Amino acid sequence: MHCPFCNHEETKVIDSRLAGEGQQIRRRRECLHCGERFTTFETAELVMPRIVKNDASREPFDESKLRNSMLKALEKRPVSSEALDAAVVHICHKLRALGEREVGSRLVGELAMEELHNLDEVAYVRFASVYRSFQDVDAFREEIERMRNRRGKTDESQLALWTGPDAGKKR
Ligand SMILES: [Zn+2]
Repeated sequence: MHCPFCNHEETKVIDSRLAGEGQQIRRRRECLHCGERFTTFETAELVMPRIVKNDASREPFDESKLRNSMLKALEKRPVSSEALDAAVVHICHKLRALGEREVGSRLVGELAMEELHNLDEVAYVRFASVYRSFQDVDAFREEIERMRNRRGKTDESQLALWTGPDAGKKR
């Protein structure tokens, strides 16, 4: 970067160390022209994008809201809280890695489905059915087919447990 004193283009780093709790790098620089020294701080920009909803309104990304929606799909499923937390971390990481200021809520839903698909098939279909709000039984069947093709193994009895007429009411 340019020297803030004389605007010369070349400066050299004479010292570099972690600052704060390791979230920051502090660099001591010296201008090659005027010899003045100055300090720069480098931090990663980890800003969560804002969420653009279907009606085009914007809202801040809400991690607990995401977690709760996934938790609901995972109700009574053999998936640990740790695994869910890890999935939420993955999603947050992916959203940050995009480096976008705004993303559609649809993308968040797709990322959640991707994670749930790895965690538990039943939870995945539950989430997908709410999220995609299937218009009819055919659309729902198509999704299950799609999932089977992707995974190649789906426990029919598990799906029947909740896709049946008493879905979600009893076990
Ligand atoms: Zn200078």
